[in-house]
Amino acid sequence: MTSVAPQHSPTQRRGYRPAPTPRHHEHLALVALTRALANGHRAHRVDLPGGTIAARSNGTGHQRITLTNPAGHRIALAVLHGACLAQDAVRTVAEVFHRAPTDPSSGTRPLFAPASVAEGMKMRRNRARRWPRKDGSVRAAVPGAELIIRPGVLDASTTTGGLRLTLDGPWHDRATAQVADAILRDLAPEARHLTYTTQPAGHYINESGSHCYDSFCWAVCSCGWYYPAADRSDARWTASWHRQHPTAHRAPDEAYEPSH
Ligand SMILES: [Zn+2]
Repeated sequence: MTSVAPQHSPTQRRGYRPAPTPRHHEHLALVALTRALANGHRAHRVDLPGGTIAARSNGTGHQRITLTNPAGHRIALAVLHGACLAQDAVRTVAEVFHRAPTDPSSGTRPLFAPASVAEGMKMRRNRARRWPRKDGSVRAAVPGAELIIRPGVLDASTTTGGLRLTLDGPWHDRATAQVADAILRDLAPEARHLTYTTQPAGHYINESGSHCYDSFCWAVCSCGWYYPAADRSDARWTASWHRQHPTAHRAPDEAYEPSH
């Protein structure tokens, strides 16, 4: 008997949510870039602990943001257009610096497969597979934004603007999925807490031949929060509780756990 469980270590507390990637430096850098561009500068660059961020604007609403690692290799190029200000990309920039391949020898192509990236993303409503389209790209949509994953390129758009992120160096599926999630979190704030519940295993026959019923299932959120539930209605109730109280880490029934 197996249940479709998210891949979390069993030693983590229930309702555990991983700490977000620190993005204080990136936030300040993007504020500085936005201010410089707003003051009429066409180009501006800021050095950060994780590398360098440089922005250029052509004055028609397009911004190009180049991210390089401390060794001077370009790790990503972001082109923003429409209403997307540079400041809206702070999660994306922080994840790129944090997840970038450590040794991108120049000219190395990204190694990720669009379908595996889509599979590894947390920003989703359910576990339904996102199938590759004819050209090999995969579409990952959440309320408010959609992302097309192509080899080497993440193309995101909203009703008001968009972001095209080109990744340089040997990027793998997992790191790319984390960057892809960050893009959707930046562009679609209303979709940061997308929950779903898994189907219970249901009826089964155990080793001694008795009929049993397994109602255990999970409530899972795109932000990383999850909860092992006694049954589906418990999971659904707790998922809606989490959406209403997204900053509370504890699942509500933790207080009733026997202490030991
Ligand atoms: Zn959440």
